[in-house]
Formats: sequence, structure tokens, C-alpha cells
Amino acid sequence: MSGPVLESVLTCTHCGHVKRESMPTDACQYFYECESCQCVLRPKPGDCCVFCSFGSVNCPPVQAQKSCRG
Ligand SMILES: [Zn+2]
Repeated sequence: MSGPVLESVLTCTHCGHVKRESMPTDACQYFYECESCQCVLRPKPGDCCVFCSFGSVNCPPVQAQKSCRG
């Protein structure tokens, strides 16, 4: 049984900048500031965190089939 993926590649919706980020296993990241254009990304409606909306993989709690929001 493999553990959750802890790295996600986030893509900025404003400038298209791509950055690999590590994800916390016990919390969701709701805001993400693009290092290229300094815009702040927020999750799409229905998504719990920026990784679920813009990342290449979902956040660890979702990978474990639990809701981030409890
Ligand atoms: Zn950007």
C-alpha cells in the first residue's frame, strides 16, 4: 500500500507559470501566490484547496478519500 503523493505541480491560471510544490499532509492550502505574477489563486467552487483545483494531483486528504473540510 503506497502513501499519498506529496508533491503537486501547480499551474497558474493567470500567467501559466508551472511550479512543483510539496503538500502538507494534515492541512489544506487555500491560497497560493504565484511566484511569477504574484496573483493569488483560490480553489474553484467545490474544491477544497488549490492543489485540487490547479495541481497535477489532489491533496493528500482527498487522495485518502477523506474530505478536507471534515
Ligand atoms: Zn502567475
